[in-house]
Amino acid sequence: MDISKLSEVLKDQPKYRYAQIEKAIFRDFISSWDEASTLPKALREKLALECPLEIKALLSEGGRRGGKALIEFSDGESVEAVLIRQKGKDGARNTVCISSQAGCALGCVFCATGDYGFKRNLSHFEMVEQVMFWARYLKEEGKGEKIDNIVFMGMGEPFLNYTEFIKAVKFLNDPETFNIGSRRLSVSTSGIVEGIKKMAGEKLQINLAISLHAANDALRGDMMPIAKKYKLHEIIKMVDYYIQKTGRRVMFEYLMIKEANDSDKDALELAKLMRKPLYMVNLIPYNPTGRFQPSSEMRIEKFKKILEQNGVAVTVRHSFGSEIGAACGQLKGKKKKEAL
Ligand code: SAH
Ligand code: SF4
Repeated sequence: MDISKLSEVLKDQPKYRYAQIEKAIFRDFISSWDEASTLPKALREKLALECPLEIKALLSEGGRRGGKALIEFSDGESVEAVLIRQKGKDGARNTVCISSQAGCALGCVFCATGDYGFKRNLSHFEMVEQVMFWARYLKEEGKGEKIDNIVFMGMGEPFLNYTEFIKAVKFLNDPETFNIGSRRLSVSTSGIVEGIKKMAGEKLQINLAISLHAANDALRGDMMPIAKKYKLHEIIKMVDYYIQKTGRRVMFEYLMIKEANDSDKDALELAKLMRKPLYMVNLIPYNPTGRFQPSSEMRIEKFKKILEQNGVAVTVRHSFGSEIGAACGQLKGKKKKEAL
């Protein structure tokens, strides 16, 4: 999909065309110009040539619980975008998890994206395109379901591609296009302090999550090389600044990896760090990608209990896409080619 030439193609058209086309693409999720039947045929043909709408994607495990797609861009680079479908009391909830970079430079030892290395930053539109793919998918299914939440938790470190990430947020927010409220958007960072500071200055209500995974710098540094640059006390200080500026809760993600960071002692150390208003801990069952094993359910429950007993607000991320292997960088198997 490439609509960068849209303004140029429409330059001799009446003014209302742009809004009409924007609605067709971002509200009605047309995947071919043929569907834009209100447009003159000649214009449709020109648009088909200059502004292709097709999104190249390899779809895997689409279905009841969601799916994964490998979205390919014009230079052949590709990223993962995941749909997670949850059935709640008040109906279905659809969350799309998108990537901010092709690969990631930070090389966390537990993460498949880290193994893959860094390829390049994505443009804001390439982030939006991933959302478009799943919006079209839900439309095709025809059950009237929509995307409820979007999380920037796929491949890459969003705060190392800050400008494009924020542009994508604003685009998704825009009432003229996707109109997704900022409270329905979340971003996860490995702890890039400058990014947290910038977020504190944005007038946005987007949810912030910090990948913690360890309660001391030594262990964190073994797991996440970037932790050698950004120490825990700096991250905590900046998060406190963020909370003071925005009044919003912050989620701390803690992967539960067997015998790596899941002992009672780890829990107590974490509790000391996290016992603060508006801090929330989210324990994430580890999705094995090779080197490590996940903590047992019993271990996670015990860990949770220790945090609770020490006054920490804590939740366990139950099967957040684990059935479809939603965590970063696990889409390695090539499945049948599909285009939507
Ligand atoms: N780079 C950012 C955002 C993308 S990763 C970050 O690290 O926060 C999103 C989340 O998925 C992070 O919390 C990351 O630690 C977690 N993750 C990575 N590998 C995982 C795995 N194998 N199982 C479960 N979660 C994983
Ligand atoms: Fe990059 Fe996040 Fe994976 Fe670490 S966990 S390698 S920061 S994508």
